[in-house]
Amino acid sequence: MEGLVFLKDPKVQELIKALLDGTIERLEPAYSIEKGQHFPLLEELLDLSSEETNDLLERLVLTGVLTEKTTGTILKCPTCESTVLRPINTCPRCGSTNYERGTLVEHYICGNVGFDQHFKQGSDYICTRCGELLTLKDLGRNWIIPGKWHRCRDCHLFFEIQRTQPLAVCVLCGHNFDIREAVLEEAKTYILDPLVLEDLMSATGVTEPLLKMLEKEGAKTEMPARIIGKSGMLHHFSFAFTKDRDPEAFVGAGDIVIRAAPITGNEFFNHLSKFLDIEATQRFFVIAGAKLDEDARSLAESYITWRGPIVKVVEEQNLTKAIQKLNKAIKSALQEEPERKESELEVLESMLRKMKGDKAK
Ligand SMILES: [Zn+2]
Ligand SMILES: [Zn+2]
Ligand SMILES: [Zn+2]
Repeated sequence: MEGLVFLKDPKVQELIKALLDGTIERLEPAYSIEKGQHFPLLEELLDLSSEETNDLLERLVLTGVLTEKTTGTILKCPTCESTVLRPINTCPRCGSTNYERGTLVEHYICGNVGFDQHFKQGSDYICTRCGELLTLKDLGRNWIIPGKWHRCRDCHLFFEIQRTQPLAVCVLCGHNFDIREAVLEEAKTYILDPLVLEDLMSATGVTEPLLKMLEKEGAKTEMPARIIGKSGMLHHFSFAFTKDRDPEAFVGAGDIVIRAAPITGNEFFNHLSKFLDIEATQRFFVIAGAKLDEDARSLAESYITWRGPIVKVVEEQNLTKAIQKLNKAIKSALQEEPERKESELEVLESMLRKMKGDKAK
């Protein structure tokens, strides 16, 4: 897979590591006049230019490491493609941008229309054309207040903004255009694809301390792992480990999930049913970035044996911290694990195996 070779690029590793350990939480773009959509945090971290960073992100999407998500639309000037646009409203009759806003008053009887500050005299309203006193009792009958309107200072037309054309002026080149003719660009954010998580974890060394500890404890680790359940079904786990003296039986298994949205009860149930189908005595569910929601938590707490919960849940802000916590949890679980009584025959067998192994080297 091309992606795996690509992962060896030090810049790529740095980026992925920053995403996994939470240095960079989200790849959301910023905007600037010169660069348009760009990723300043990432540029700084990787010491790359905006173009190089954008190229890198695109390559990561092509190789399936990152998933691209369109989150909005950016309007650009049709002439120079600048994103720095200033909205303008113009008088629908003469096109002037010179207008004022006020609360409109209309006197039906004489047809007079104007802004309220001209009608108000103390607490009363008096028509500026016919001089009639406009009482609140008569409001809605022979005079009305239609609301906020605009008045062109050049041709004196009263108008509503929603009746005007949606115009913008480009701050860079001064081009004046209908906003519906703007060039559209997709606003993008990038998300780490959970499916490539295992590859990433080993490629970036996040899981190194965990693997070392397991090795020290005499356990062998598979990452990712496939385990056939009691039902005969094949299950996938993020990791599983066996003890040297019994390489056939898994001692523990776990799933690692990294994401921002909480784990729902339904999702947790799917993990739980996998865990219940396997023989392993240690089961871990690791979530980095988010937490279990209420349903998932009560589900996790309801499956308890005399040894404790069926699944030990590790929740952390970022993957590096989660792995550290998992490391501790597995270590203490392994040390608690009651040593199985080995028969003399088993001891002999393992000695023989060891001798054969030594000779093979
Ligand atoms: Zn422009
Ligand atoms: Zn009047
Ligand atoms: Zn006008």
